[in-house]
Amino acid sequence: MVGVRQFDEDEMIATALDVFWRKGLHDATMQDLAAATGVQRGSLYNAYGDKEAIFLRAFDQYAAQFLDAAGSALAHGDTSARLRSFFEMIIVNMTDGTPQRGCLTTRTALDAAISSADVRQRVQDVLTRLEQLVGKAISAAPNRRSPADANRLARVIVTFTRGLAVMERAGYSRKQLRESATTIHRCRDWRRLRRRPRSRRRRHRMGETSMQERNGGCLCGAVRYTLKSEPRSIAVCHCTHCQRQSGSLFSFNLVIREADYQQSGETVVFVDKGDSGHPVHRHFCGRCGSPLLAKTALMPGKVVVKAGTLDSMEGLQPQAEIYTDRAAAWLTPIPGAARFARNV
Ligand SMILES: [Zn+2]
Ligand SMILES: [Zn+2]
Repeated sequence: MVGVRQFDEDEMIATALDVFWRKGLHDATMQDLAAATGVQRGSLYNAYGDKEAIFLRAFDQYAAQFLDAAGSALAHGDTSARLRSFFEMIIVNMTDGTPQRGCLTTRTALDAAISSADVRQRVQDVLTRLEQLVGKAISAAPNRRSPADANRLARVIVTFTRGLAVMERAGYSRKQLRESATTIHRCRDWRRLRRRPRSRRRRHRMGETSMQERNGGCLCGAVRYTLKSEPRSIAVCHCTHCQRQSGSLFSFNLVIREADYQQSGETVVFVDKGDSGHPVHRHFCGRCGSPLLAKTALMPGKVVVKAGTLDSMEGLQPQAEIYTDRAAAWLTPIPGAARFARNV
């Protein structure tokens, strides 16, 4: 496409890169490029066609150097060490020069509204390759993680570095950027990041069996309810009020979020008075008299469900017994439950 070039192309592109880095693709002119490189504008047009074509050449050179430097920074140590040197390399790269040049990729990405599809593609390619490098380094590190997890983590890390680049443009110093990187680095724990998604999945799966909704209701069926979450605590209460209202030895109580308690049918309320002197609202079925729940101002946003009214008590193990000083003398302690003479 061109004849013999009258200049050292590598040197010319390196100089052009410097111009683009300092001024940005949009603001750099052919005049600037000619002045910096010492190559006549006519020769530049002749050799490349237009400013963008020169930019693409310069950007390719930049990308190769940048990815090379990233690769070296990510080459050694465990994940933590690799990321530390990677962040450092990124920060030094963007805070170099006087005035600071910023990150060419991010500057160009922000310029993308006024640049062509080719330019946008170049920017995307660099970021994709950067993600791949980071992902590869993480999965290859001694405390390695699965490739899928490594790639997800790599995207987050690259996204964070783009944030750093924008902060740099907003005037943040090298020191401040380093502080942010250190914070991110500390709040790892990158090692745990690998396992967290798995254990969360496992917990969730366990949750699905143990967090199934529980249903219950009164003896006559006029009142029915659903518990949408697992109880916050499970306790047996031996107090005399629980004995009297149940007509039995104790109440088996589930403390649950009020928002997770859904009831159909009306209950009647007896306002009792607890040890604390606060009222205890005891809800029962007005037709059959079954006690269903209690509410007290001492536990705002919670309800105490009488577990004896559940359709199934499976999996509900008492964690505590309270008011054991009122418990029937012949009743043996519940295995695994903490005992309290009065309330907790
Ligand atoms: Zn009833
Ligand atoms: Zn009680």
